[in-house]
Amino acid sequence: MNLHIMTHTFPSGNRGYKVVDDNGNMIGSPKGCRDDAVTFCEVYLKRQAESGLKSRPCITCRTPFESEGIHNRMCPRCRSRANDAGMI
Ligand SMILES: [Zn+2]
Repeated sequence: MNLHIMTHTFPSGNRGYKVVDDNGNMIGSPKGCRDDAVTFCEVYLKRQAESGLKSRPCITCRTPFESEGIHNRMCPRCRSRANDAGMI
């Protein structure tokens, strides 16, 4: 997953920066200055790497998703489909 820093306008009208993921979802709260946003990105990615969460392609549909570990190789959508079919 990549993080992107985008400009953000606070309700007060002040300009700031926000961190969004590839899907455009905002992560954390908007920051007042760009340096804070950059630092936030670094910390967030580092913490994510340490927690073992890694984006892997699904073994079934090849869609990248955040796997919890080597045992988890199916995206949630395929997993629930497999569940419904009684495969798990
Ligand atoms: Zn899948």
